Amino acid sequence: MVYFFPCIVYNEYMTIESIEKNFVKRGFRFQFFETTEEAISYILSIVPEGSSIGFGGSMTVQESGLLEKMQEKNYDLYHRALRTDIEPLEMYKKMYFCDWYISSANALTEQGEIINIDGRGNRVSAILDGPKKVIFLCGINKISPDTQSGIDRVRNVASPLNCVRLQKNTPCRVTGKCSYCNSSDTICKATVILHHPTTGTEMYVVLVNQSLGY
Ligand code: SF4
Repeated sequence: MVYFFPCIVYNEYMTIESIEKNFVKRGFRFQFFETTEEAISYILSIVPEGSSIGFGGSMTVQESGLLEKMQEKNYDLYHRALRTDIEPLEMYKKMYFCDWYISSANALTEQGEIINIDGRGNRVSAILDGPKKVIFLCGINKISPDTQSGIDRVRNVASPLNCVRLQKNTPCRVTGKCSYCNSSDTICKATVILHHPTTGTEMYVVLVNQSLGY
């Protein structure tokens, strides 16, 4: 399939087109959209009705309105907000066997990598070896120049805000910055950097030119 992209300047060194090339050369499928609405239309067009879909806990998915749009269609949705009839541990297991998995990412790098840091690990493990089709819906705010700055972004932006949201007893919940804590409540127990899609899994990066999630 041929994708056409406008050559939009992202910063003085990189364009969206060059970021796209970096993801595509690693084997990721990549689409860039100006608006969340366009991104949602694209996702609805590639996920066939009747599919089962698992979701990682994601503020991006929540903010974007994707879940509401999917509820209007004939999908079998496994999202904790929708399936309160299923115990969380049972839900995590079911998600491994879904047709699709939809998540955001904690950071994307301009070099075409995807970074996620998890506490329980259910999200990263489902991404790595669960559903064979995985979509990452991400706002442009998730782009970092390189791997280290991507990890720094997660630890100093995403994780502190998630600790506030989840009411975790961690230093960053108070300071807003990572102190590489050893708290039993830390949500930073596993860092997963996807350099390529894992074997046998199609991975789609859907990037939106808007700030989404954190
Ligand atoms: S390691 Fe601890 S302090 Fe650092 S971001 Fe994670 S939870 Fe917060």
